[in-house]
Amino acid sequence: MTLDTIPSAASDLHIMDGSRRNSTLICAPVMAESVDQMLVQMGKAKEVGADLVEIRVDFLKNFNPRQDLGALINQSPLPTLVTYRPSWEGGQYKGDDKQRQDALRVAMELGADFIDVELKVADEFYNSIQGKKPEKVKIIVSSHNYEKTPSSEEIGDLVARIQATGADIVKIATTALDITDSARVFQVLVHSQVPMIALVMGEKGLISRVLSAKYGAFLTFGTIEAGVVSAPGQPTVRDLLDLYNFRLIGADTKVHGVIGNPIRHSNCPLLYNAAFKSINFNGIYLPLLVDNVANFIDTYNSPDFAGYSYTIPHKEAGLKCCDEIDPHAKEIGAINCMIRNPADGKLKGYNVDYLGAIAAIEEGLRASNGSSNGSGSPLAGKLFVVMGAGAAGTALAYGGKQKGARVVVANRTYDKAKALANKVGGEAITLAELETFHPEDGMVLANATPVGMEPRIDQTPLSKNALKNYSLVFDAIYTPTWTRLLQEAQECGAAVAFGTEMFLNQAFVQVEKFSGSPAPKHLIRDVLARNT
Ligand code: NAP
Repeated sequence: MTLDTIPSAASDLHIMDGSRRNSTLICAPVMAESVDQMLVQMGKAKEVGADLVEIRVDFLKNFNPRQDLGALINQSPLPTLVTYRPSWEGGQYKGDDKQRQDALRVAMELGADFIDVELKVADEFYNSIQGKKPEKVKIIVSSHNYEKTPSSEEIGDLVARIQATGADIVKIATTALDITDSARVFQVLVHSQVPMIALVMGEKGLISRVLSAKYGAFLTFGTIEAGVVSAPGQPTVRDLLDLYNFRLIGADTKVHGVIGNPIRHSNCPLLYNAAFKSINFNGIYLPLLVDNVANFIDTYNSPDFAGYSYTIPHKEAGLKCCDEIDPHAKEIGAINCMIRNPADGKLKGYNVDYLGAIAAIEEGLRASNGSSNGSGSPLAGKLFVVMGAGAAGTALAYGGKQKGARVVVANRTYDKAKALANKVGGEAITLAELETFHPEDGMVLANATPVGMEPRIDQTPLSKNALKNYSLVFDAIYTPTWTRLLQEAQECGAAVAFGTEMFLNQAFVQVEKFSGSPAPKHLIRDVLARNT
């Protein structure tokens, strides 16, 4: 394949085939000790959908430049970028720099499409070739900062220095200490007059790798296999294409995501991106590893950052960043959804957790024998015990009160149980006291603590012995679906209701709020079922 068959960074998005809304290429690094292994990886890179491969020559053992580069460049099924990264720039090569630069000159001669030259030696390299390079070869001049992302001013200066070398393509890679670091890189990228690669390394820099398509980067890197990265934070090519719908991201794509910490294992991006694609909504949904919600909201304040879900531990902090708060969310004191009004940019917070949870519990009670009480809520009049007094606990206690239940809040920290119980006109006890709490039969129990959640699935918030007193047990945890609590409740003869139903119900509502269209409920349900 030649480079002419893939869209150049300058191509007009609208004349490209309809399945691609940006011209940003996906480059898969190949890192192996032998040429044969690299050739196998190149085949895989093509299979998974990469546009080009980066041959990381510094990983090769017993490297013979002319012979090895000849084989790799000629036999590659994809266009090639040759990188021979020295240890002083984060690579594997520790030898003589003249020999290293000689190999890059050989790569040009043998027909590589791109070569990468580090800024520190770019002038020396350009002097050595004296303007002579095959026309098709493009030189990427790169700079890597493995410690931080400098200020906007410093990044601007760096880019100017790279441009001054005569680079065909500018590459900067910095390190994310905070998710807001990517904003400074986007600023430079979006205004760049030359083709540019601008990435922020590390988990907190993930958005720079995905949104590079939105901001017009020349390429982004995607790995062939999960975890086999050439720089920290690289997603797989498959994730870029299938999870984040990378080809569908355009300059006008609206950005959404789930704000939490940790957030790596959230399956929200999978569900929401699948939903957005199926209803042709021009939006992307990202995991947002946020340390400080207010900083995040202040930094990404453009209308394109259109809406967020909130999860642990940021639901209360999210509420403080709203310009307007839905009355239910205000009463609960936490949000799990935030929407930017496109007309005035104002942020409105909602809490849709309680709707989904209460609906799941009501359904479970109706399905179990003798729990129905006509057209009213089967929760009405029941003794409803909520374990946990955090965001989910508050939503559940609030929802229970709305439905006419008598609410008891049981929490590890008694003061928090007391504060929540006072808010909903209920009773407060400690989790320890709940072990012997048995004022009546047929009570309903809801777990809103993370006890029993993956990876600690052997844990449970209440002993099996105490579960005998309940007619129905609900667990807000949805990874796993069958928590130890629910398994033991069923063994005790109680009906069970799942956190997945709560999760699905609130996902339906949020997809509708983000997109303005009905949620594809079957599809969302199927995607979740396939991934839990
Ligand atoms: P949160 O605001 O951090 O509150 C956590 C609550 O759990 C607090 O009351 C805390 O007690 C208690 N807790 C934490 N660790 C504990 C432990 N080791 N032993 C006993 N109690 C403990 O969290 P959240 O947002 O409410 O989430 C709670 C759970 O609900 C999570 O598992 C989450 O995944 C789940 N959830 C599910 C959905 C869904 O859609 N299915 C939606 C939201 C939340 P202290 O006050 O003593 O710290």
